Amino acid sequence: MPFQSLGLSEPLLKAIEAQQYTKPYPIQEQAIPAIRAGKDVLGIAKTGSGKTASFVLPILEWFQDKGTPQNRSIRVLVLAPTRELAIQIGSVFQAFGEKLPRKVKTMAVYGGVSINPQMIGLQNVEVLVATPGRLLDLLSRRALSISETEILVLDEADKMLNMGFADEMKDILFLLPRKKQSILFSATLGDAVESIHQSLLNNPVKISIEEPEQDLELIKQSAYRVSSERKGPLLRYLIKTEEMQQVLVFASSKRTADNLVEKLKKNGIDAAALHSEKSQGARTETLNKFKTGRLRVLVATDLVSRGIDIQYLPYVINFDLPRSPQDYVHRIGRTGRAGATGEAISLICPEDEHHFKIIQKKMKKRVDILESDDLELKGY
Ligand code: AMP
Repeated sequence: MPFQSLGLSEPLLKAIEAQQYTKPYPIQEQAIPAIRAGKDVLGIAKTGSGKTASFVLPILEWFQDKGTPQNRSIRVLVLAPTRELAIQIGSVFQAFGEKLPRKVKTMAVYGGVSINPQMIGLQNVEVLVATPGRLLDLLSRRALSISETEILVLDEADKMLNMGFADEMKDILFLLPRKKQSILFSATLGDAVESIHQSLLNNPVKISIEEPEQDLELIKQSAYRVSSERKGPLLRYLIKTEEMQQVLVFASSKRTADNLVEKLKKNGIDAAALHSEKSQGARTETLNKFKTGRLRVLVATDLVSRGIDIQYLPYVINFDLPRSPQDYVHRIGRTGRAGATGEAISLICPEDEHHFKIIQKKMKKRVDILESDDLELKGY
């Protein structure tokens, strides 16, 4: 089914073409017509399914025959669990909306940055993408009103609940008008999500997208047995000798991440860390540099790496192993996307070996562990 059959207008189809989306993803095939028809939607889909465009496109279309706003009321509210996701959704609205005849002012607001510029920027905003805490903060300062919101999107609702936003979400839902179109996305349908769905959604269209099996065959996996003192030198050795130009390194803590970056830089390897103690501005800039190939090594902790949308990476290195096998697959899945091949390398200390066996068992794939004793790491 082409995008043309989804009831989208010519300018939006042009914008889709400009983004080089040739064919709708399954979630888009199902959600776009339902949202266009004004129905509530319950979508069970993960990041990577194309869920963002599945609500951004019909919402932008919805605006095309609407007049311009008269007040500080938000017409479309999108709630997202993290700043990264909020920024990403905001940029998808911008990318598709840029050249449409009816402009739609969109803004992403999130905590961790000063609130004043956000308050000023809210003038004439029609689509607000927000994390729950910052939205409540802005509401308490009367910087905006959500009492006339016509469309509500809850994105990654399960994650919002897992992150402890249940009370904030309730407060926000209470301030919204009863009559509105509601769209809820969640990776899973647990009891908590089920209860929001029951109270919020009115006879929703249910869409469930099975996650495509990660094709682990496309990922070349390897591992090195290494003592903890030699891990740092081995990392630098691998990056240098393999001439890796864009590599995502996972570390287990902020401190390790910062230390690694310092040593990499001392060795002439351009690197930066991404973790929750970095300011929002620094995180956005680092990520942009990395995505556009202007930063060679990004060292991240698991927490911030979730939800970051990096299309394709040639190399992922697990400097530290993640705790869960799912996280391992999630990490290495950043390589080998969209049919491209990638390489994932794990550094295994003696104390990690048992855990690494469990990971392999869970993923049903064996990974050979290479010895690193003979590698000459002096000078790295
Ligand atoms: P999402 O699940 O919304 O985070 O989207 C995952 C990725 O898929 C994003 O990088 C999108 O730009 C991309 N994407 C979404 N829909 C399509 C499509 N129909 N064709 C090609 N790429 C898409």
